[in-house]
Amino acid sequence: MTTGEPLIVLDSVNKWFGPLHVLDDVSLSVARGEVVVVIGPSGSGKSTLCRTINRLEPINSGTITFDGRPLPAEGKKLAQLRSEVGMVFQSFNLFAHKTILENVTLGPIKVRKEKPAATRERALALLDRVGIANQADKFPAQLSGGQQQRVAIARALAMQPKALLFDEPTSALDPEMVGEVLEVMTSLARDGMTMVVVTHEMGFARHAANRVIFMADGKLVEDAPPAEFFANPRSERARDFLSKIL
Ligand code: ADP
Ligand code: MG
Repeated sequence: MTTGEPLIVLDSVNKWFGPLHVLDDVSLSVARGEVVVVIGPSGSGKSTLCRTINRLEPINSGTITFDGRPLPAEGKKLAQLRSEVGMVFQSFNLFAHKTILENVTLGPIKVRKEKPAATRERALALLDRVGIANQADKFPAQLSGGQQQRVAIARALAMQPKALLFDEPTSALDPEMVGEVLEVMTSLARDGMTMVVVTHEMGFARHAANRVIFMADGKLVEDAPPAEFFANPRSERARDFLSKIL
């Protein structure tokens, strides 16, 4: 469900960690409503790519624009960018000493200065959407990993983001909980959320992605619709990677 209009644009992005060229001339455009799955071997730069998009990591050269504007480096504009580009991590990162409901309402109230009553209503609706409204008053440790990750998704959605970045959102979960998180992500994708998803879940890539990007050694090696990528990976690196994980 894309409009073709670019929301996230990286142009010749380079990033080094010391001598390590972790993003090597990466150019990528993600359209509004598009779902891009990023795959590749460990250490290929997938997390760094995600983190540059909401400027958790600065870049050394090239440009990144979000919604038509260059990424702000600091201040209020950076805080606004971070609220517009939600991020869901492998490790959930919920606030342990806040309830599930508070985890979801905190950002909108503190960062977006929303009224608590209205935010609470919306947060409950989001928790309902991810299937955990009845856990609102519990603390994160009382929930399963799959439930916690669904709270993390609700928390990101509460900021009313224009895009969501997922960095291996199911990698820390017990196998029986992977499906419930992927289901929520698939439903967001269907509803037109712009998503960049780093994952090893090839079923999700096949069914929910508009494009699959394969990275190796900091380079964007392939960029193709999933049917094409899985049927006919062009590079030796991608064929080798797929033979190991499929
Ligand atoms: P991936 O997510 O594909 O596994 P990452 O983006 O996490 O890859 O890392 C790419 C490379 O950059 C790896 O070699 C990693 O060790 C290195 N790296 C990541 N973050 C840092 C950092 N903060 N400082 C130094 N090296 C880093
Ligand atoms: Mg990573």
